[in-house]
Amino acid sequence: MAAERALAIVVRGTDWSETSRITTLFTREFGKVRALAKGGRRLKSNFDVAFDLLTVCQIMFLRKASGGLDLLTEARLEEQFPALRQNLPALYAGYYVAELLADGTQDYDPHVPLFDAAVETLRALGSPTPPAPLPEGKGESGRVASTDLPDASKFRRSVSPPFREAPGVGSSTAGAVSAFELVWLHELGYSPRLDACAGCGIERVNPSAAALYSPSAGGVLCPQCGPAVADRRGASGAALSALRALGAGGAGPELAPAVRTEVRHLLGPTVSCVLGRRPRLLGYVDGG
Ligand SMILES: [Zn+2]
Repeated sequence: MAAERALAIVVRGTDWSETSRITTLFTREFGKVRALAKGGRRLKSNFDVAFDLLTVCQIMFLRKASGGLDLLTEARLEEQFPALRQNLPALYAGYYVAELLADGTQDYDPHVPLFDAAVETLRALGSPTPPAPLPEGKGESGRVASTDLPDASKFRRSVSPPFREAPGVGSSTAGAVSAFELVWLHELGYSPRLDACAGCGIERVNPSAAALYSPSAGGVLCPQCGPAVADRRGASGAALSALRALGAGGAGPELAPAVRTEVRHLLGPTVSCVLGRRPRLLGYVDGG
């Protein structure tokens, strides 16, 4: 067994025995890792994390040569998102991120951009108040994207009362979730096709115009292909432009409510098609 070190997000945990846990971790270095933490339920152990969902930690683990669970030997708390606990929609969105990482990736299939996007999303969701719109439409893009995690002395703390609803937090949550889904789809090789027909590949003359869209086909459809696809639906030019901007990382969460709703109706089913089922948390995220 080789000893490995990794930065990890806890995406699932299961009690294994009186003292041990099986935990599913999405690591920056190795992708998804499932490991047994012996003594992981004891207060005093090599693990100073309780393996709470969405905790970021530095781990050491022994990698099993074949099949069996890896063995976690050390876990050190790196970052938590306490503000998520104070906003229920944001917490559900965080659990949704964890579900896509746990169920939508393969063991030992690393995706660094996906890991970084997950941490950035959890930070954005954990903000007690959504960022105010910046002048000149800079929005979220005005923030410096950092992949460096703060050290343990710099945990974010919030003094907000429990579940305070900040104005506009719904829009911030939907925008952050949509942007994360697009990274997830891209990393898995299923970015929605927006500039050409997902059926026949013919390029769209005006990519900003309204078009038919199919979650199962994975993008827009030309007038010839559209009628043959059962789950086709109309998509406005504004929604398709928003998808393109979100995918490029340039759009803030300040989408018009109607566009935001439409983007959710396009992306949620697309994620479901790629995952092979509707994510359990998707209804909590989209409220339906
Ligand atoms: Zn076509």
